[in-house]
Amino acid sequence: MHPDAEPNRGVRQFDSLTNQIGKFNVVDKTLLVPEMSRAGSRLLVAALRSFGIDARVMESYEGLRLGKRFTSGKECFPCQVTLGDVLHHMEAEKERLGDSFQPENYLYCMAETGGPCRFGMYAKLHRIVLDSLGGLGKTRIVSVTSEDSYAVDGMVGREVRSNFSRTAYLAIVIADVLDRMLQRTRPYEKHSGDADAHFEDALATMADAIEVHGRKKGYRHILRTVEGVAKRAREIIDPGMRPKPLIGIVGEIYLRSHTASNQDLIRLLESHGAEVVNASIAEWLNYVSHKLMRKASRDMTYAMTKRDVGSCIRYLKAWLHHRIQLTYQYLRLDQAYRRVGRHLHIHQDHRISRIERQLDNDRIFTFQVGTEAALGIGGALEYQTTGFDGIVNVFPFTCMPSTMCSAILKPILERMRVPYIDSVYDGTFQPNREAAIRTFMHQAAQHQEMRLSRRPW
Ligand code: SF4
Repeated sequence: MHPDAEPNRGVRQFDSLTNQIGKFNVVDKTLLVPEMSRAGSRLLVAALRSFGIDARVMESYEGLRLGKRFTSGKECFPCQVTLGDVLHHMEAEKERLGDSFQPENYLYCMAETGGPCRFGMYAKLHRIVLDSLGGLGKTRIVSVTSEDSYAVDGMVGREVRSNFSRTAYLAIVIADVLDRMLQRTRPYEKHSGDADAHFEDALATMADAIEVHGRKKGYRHILRTVEGVAKRAREIIDPGMRPKPLIGIVGEIYLRSHTASNQDLIRLLESHGAEVVNASIAEWLNYVSHKLMRKASRDMTYAMTKRDVGSCIRYLKAWLHHRIQLTYQYLRLDQAYRRVGRHLHIHQDHRISRIERQLDNDRIFTFQVGTEAALGIGGALEYQTTGFDGIVNVFPFTCMPSTMCSAILKPILERMRVPYIDSVYDGTFQPNREAAIRTFMHQAAQHQEMRLSRRPW
């Protein structure tokens, strides 16, 4: 037990799982956001700040030692990393502020989902750990869930709710676009380091644009700014360079987005000659809307068979709500990619319906299972049909959906002769990882040669 840990507080700890986790008003508090994708977290914080919320991205991975100390080792790796982030941040704040440190002034943000995997338990486990530490029981956990499409009711004023959700979505799309720009330019840069420097510069520019224009619904201005960023990115590329083998990344969203946790896998692949496309974060948000729409439609059909008119109308309204939301999301997504595409070719985001089609009428897998497995499997097959030379499945050790994904993808891609590799992480360093990636990249280069030789003149 940690020296700061208080003796077992029994029932009170149970109460806090409901009282101290939820949708709390974030006004006048400091909202702590864990880092997932570097760009995604920063631009999401910019969106929050645009609405007057004092949000901050916590320093990431520095507290892993703490995260591991308060877990048993059976938890998912992202659960340990994010727990470490919040403990490390609070420790640093305590030291910085001394006696004026007040844990109740902070809210810690941890999203969740309804299952069937363990993501729904992170907030609860973090709650128990915070409760066991002197004073941190007063720091409440703000939790939004995919079950209601990350609704922010109760967190911000009713009058800005829809504007806030739209700005936050656009911020995530812009973050994905910046990541894609980096992945597109870095393997072909004329001068080493230019793409990284441009990315940092672009991130600061876009964070400013979102913070200033988000609340005012200045989406056009934000889109114009990202177009200017893309124009400058094109200058980085050496147009005389030969195309490199194209590698698609699928897998668990945190691990594939968090460079410290995945030991900078994209850079490692690039160092062995790859151009990489990582699955986006917006893809998950679109999947959530798509799934809720399907669920409403299924519930409506069931209510019709029962001749329950009241429920029918309720489900129809829910279906319409998610349909409109998804249409809006695709509209913004297309606008952002189109603006960037005028200056720099980046890979488009997968449409969820196309990913579902890849599952061959549920013969390969089904969206009904939930989790990211469906996205990983369908996304990898979609990459394969659009000229990719290899697939990497990135996930935390023992991740349930990604293990399913691996079991299904491996034989299918082997039959198609598409190179495939699992890249699994738990915070330790595997000495053979680089050798495995090198071999994988050799196969991907051969695949590219064959693919290009088959291309008609
Ligand atoms: S997706 Fe995998 S790593 Fe993430 S919570 Fe679920 S089981 Fe754990």
